[in-house]
Amino acid sequence: MSAKLPETQTPSPNFIRNIIAEDVASGRVKEVITRFPPEPNGYLHIGHAKSICLNFDLADEFGGRTNLRFDDTNPLKENEEYVKAIMEDVRWLGYEWDNLCYASDYFEQMYEYAVRLIKKGKAYVCDLSPEEIRRTRGTLTEPGIPSPYRNRSVEENLDLFRRMREGEFPEGSRTLRAKIDMASPNINLRDPVLYRIVHARHHHTGDKWCIYPMYDFAHPLSDAIEGVTHSICTLEFEDHRPLYDWVIRECETETVPRQYEFNRLNLTQTVLSKRYLKLLVERGIVDGWDDPRMPTIAGLRRRGFTPDAIRAFCREIGVAKSNSVVDWRMLEHFVREDLKLKAPRTMAVLRPLKVVIVNYPEGQIEWLEAENNPENPEMGTRRIPFSREIYIEREDFMENPPPKYHRLFPGNEVRLKHAYFIRCEEVVKNEAGEIVELRCTYDPATKSGSGFTARKVKGTIHWVEASHAVPAEFRLYEPLILDGNSGDADNEEPEGEAGEAADAAASFLGRINPKSLEVLHGFVEPGLKDAKPHDKFQFFRHGYFNVDPRDSGAGRLVFNRIVSLKSSYELPVDAR
Ligand code: ATP
Ligand code: MG
Repeated sequence: MSAKLPETQTPSPNFIRNIIAEDVASGRVKEVITRFPPEPNGYLHIGHAKSICLNFDLADEFGGRTNLRFDDTNPLKENEEYVKAIMEDVRWLGYEWDNLCYASDYFEQMYEYAVRLIKKGKAYVCDLSPEEIRRTRGTLTEPGIPSPYRNRSVEENLDLFRRMREGEFPEGSRTLRAKIDMASPNINLRDPVLYRIVHARHHHTGDKWCIYPMYDFAHPLSDAIEGVTHSICTLEFEDHRPLYDWVIRECETETVPRQYEFNRLNLTQTVLSKRYLKLLVERGIVDGWDDPRMPTIAGLRRRGFTPDAIRAFCREIGVAKSNSVVDWRMLEHFVREDLKLKAPRTMAVLRPLKVVIVNYPEGQIEWLEAENNPENPEMGTRRIPFSREIYIEREDFMENPPPKYHRLFPGNEVRLKHAYFIRCEEVVKNEAGEIVELRCTYDPATKSGSGFTARKVKGTIHWVEASHAVPAEFRLYEPLILDGNSGDADNEEPEGEAGEAADAAASFLGRINPKSLEVLHGFVEPGLKDAKPHDKFQFFRHGYFNVDPRDSGAGRLVFNRIVSLKSSYELPVDAR
């Protein structure tokens, strides 16, 4: 079961849907079964959301099922914290899996399949070290060199493989390899490793195993065991598909899953790779996996992005057969669209400057009527206090303004949103020459809603009444990674060359934006005093904000800016 498309959005056609539709029409597939298969070695990011939406939405559309499967074949990198976080994130996005599965639950069956391969002469125990295996694999232009252990007898292989399982051999001393073709133009078919020895405790199977299957062996078999019909993954696995099919064929599984590849999501202004995101967390560059600057689902949630906006974004970008980079601002566009009619609009002063309205009666408080959302009258109105002392935004005053500055400056008049016109009469400075207060006058005839037209002003600014103002912290964000489509070099091989990976990591760490977070202290309207974690508001002129779920509470209010109000970004014409 999964989240429904908003009524305005019809599913965009994509090639995977067409394949599934044909499979269903031809009767090849009776029930569509997909899976979302994260490795629990980190938190999910917005790229995973694309895969989640695709898998769940497609199965849903065809009345099928989707499993959440933990691809947990590497005990060294995986743990239970990640398992829990992944489940939370998938549910938060609005999806509920049909079965919760762990690849590690199939280890016994996978072992039996490996034994079957050995008996067929299709797999052998190899004593080469990982380094020697890499060295003898050949290159794109040269064939690989067959392992000296390639022709071991079936009996010897069965015996050694059993003893590998029983823990007789040290880590890394032996592997089980498929016997395919050392001269294959596809390097993945040059006797790939199927099993390796790792003496480590596994978060799900404990100490039961000390041999672990490789992705290329475990994945097709997990798909087959679950009856997955369409195994959808990202393009870097395209070259692995022949091996996927080889495993399915040679293991003679009962069901025959098929793999289809789509383009992974790359976004500007960030990195989408658990490996790099983990580095940011480990080096303390961000405040955990859910730091609002992170492109993780947890980070986006904490920042204030909504599941509806993320799903709408994922559906809009669609799937293709070639990689590209999507503009981060497109994601922002969808959250603005989602919050436009839902978030109440209020006033917040982020960098306060005190204003005393000298001709307003001392001690008087007036309650003014204000609309909660002019674009959505159903949200009603509220009353906000006004008095002799208010705060305005420091940026809304300039002592020596440039031409065409329409906000406050000495002698100039502006409109206070929902209230009156005020004119700046005097600037008060401290000994250091800093502006500490403005003294203004107001004109009672100009009250908002009174129909006053005798005089016009060019600027409207926001404010908060001082005696009722609620102190608040505001966190403003800029991109975490300085420009471009940074370290997304992760598009290559799933297991990449160690050297290249280190280079890419170093280059991306060099582009960290030192100014990605700005913390301000100001005021919000009294009505926000009891705002709850994840309440969302539009602050007049500042953008959309979310009450931070971690640091708010016990009298403290922290607002994360989700997105500013405007952007130069426009949806591509064909996407509107
Ligand atoms: P990462 O490189 O971030 O670690 P991964 O591919 O190793 O990603 P997995 O947990 O193995 O992460 O991925 C689970 C599923 O999500 C896979 O099917 C994978 O193809 C898909 N996926 C991962 N990243 C993206 C992305 N950027 N865009 C679309 N799908 C993705
Ligand atoms: Mg991975």
